[in-house]
Amino acid sequence: MYQKNCEICHRASYSSSEVGKWICPICGNDLTNQPFFDAMTFERIHIKTVPLHRKLKKYQK
Ligand SMILES: [Zn+2]
Repeated sequence: MYQKNCEICHRASYSSSEVGKWICPICGNDLTNQPFFDAMTFERIHIKTVPLHRKLKKYQK
């Protein structure tokens, strides 16, 4: 579970996916480029966003 903090309304939102767009459910702000935090430990997670087509290639091996 991931958490991102909105810089506009200062609310946290949660998601289980690190891919795709992340829009603040409160104010609609685009949080896609905000850093990920672990929802349990609140530690910052460094995720390199991998383009979807590269991920699919990996799975085909
Ligand atoms: Zn917001």
